Amino acid sequence: MKILQDLSFTELENLIEQLGEKKFRAAQLNTGLMQGKRISAINIPAALKDGLLQEYVDEPLKIVQTLTSSDGTEKYLFSLADGNVIEGVLMKYEYGYSQCVSTQVGCRMGCKFCASTLGGLVRNLTAGEILSQILVVNALVKMKGGSVKKVVLMGSGEPLDNYANVVRFLRNLAAPTGINISPRNVSLSTCGLVPQMRSLADEGLGVNLTVSLHQTTDEGRARTMPIAKRYSIAEILEACNYYFKKTGRRYIFEYTLIDGENCDREHARQLIALLKGRCCHVNLIRLNEVKERKLLSATDRQAYEFLGWLEKGGLSATVRRRMGADIGGACGQLRASFLEGKKC
Ligand code: SAH
Repeated sequence: MKILQDLSFTELENLIEQLGEKKFRAAQLNTGLMQGKRISAINIPAALKDGLLQEYVDEPLKIVQTLTSSDGTEKYLFSLADGNVIEGVLMKYEYGYSQCVSTQVGCRMGCKFCASTLGGLVRNLTAGEILSQILVVNALVKMKGGSVKKVVLMGSGEPLDNYANVVRFLRNLAAPTGINISPRNVSLSTCGLVPQMRSLADEGLGVNLTVSLHQTTDEGRARTMPIAKRYSIAEILEACNYYFKKTGRRYIFEYTLIDGENCDREHARQLIALLKGRCCHVNLIRLNEVKERKLLSATDRQAYEFLGWLEKGGLSATVRRRMGADIGGACGQLRASFLEGKKC
């Protein structure tokens, strides 16, 4: 079965014409899809609906579980048409809502601190499955009088390991006929797939690039991130320079603080030496401990001390706010616990 939400508006118009219908039906159909409706619930002629439903999935994704935090953050578990599950998070800020979406079922990057990769990669999500996470959540947010304003590709999966689908999703998301979320309001996080970072710079999209650094040397990085054996920090920094040159966008480094691994004074000194003078920002993340792993989070005190060192060294940095701590667990934990429950 195919997914209608994968298509751009022009492709949707072509499809409607191929089915022998008038072009304006594409706009009608598109309005319903962008409101997060399933095909069968959209107001179009029955013959067209039947024709579409023979080839396309009625509902590519639906919410099967919602957890709400006292700070307003919501975590969703979505099920896909083939029964796979993925998760997402909705955070409320002063400017509106920001949604964290998944790009793959599972992940094959193998980072030691991350729950999303525990079962390996199951499959890539299509562009329409990534978009549908936003469409169904935006429909709920609209009922509260708001809308999703920002999107972060920081759920399960490595976005640049699913390059073609992610780029298609970004184009459809930004289209005026879509839900019109500009690439400036989208952040893509990568563990550092250097060739794809360079290709992304050439796409002319201008999304915010975020790179998971987490260490200051290649040897240290390889202890928790297998991808460090393939691409060096020097190559990552060159690709970031290229991204900045092509897009004019400042880039962000994520640095998850792991006790005894990467947050002493020497690491701060090395990080300053690596990043000083670059047009970048460092986001310090306190590790969400994953029960299958032995790694421990830095304390709040360690985190703010590390922040102080970086600031004194001239870097722009912040400690990321912990949102939804009470519904918590690490990225990927909701899916992991759901699957565990299913086994018993
Ligand atoms: N594959 C992408 C997106 C991952 S999720 C990437 O690697 O960037 C977004 C961020 O959360 C990444 O920086 C990732 O390294 C970090 N992360 C993963 N597991 C974490 C955990 N248990 N605690 C804190 N941060 C974590």
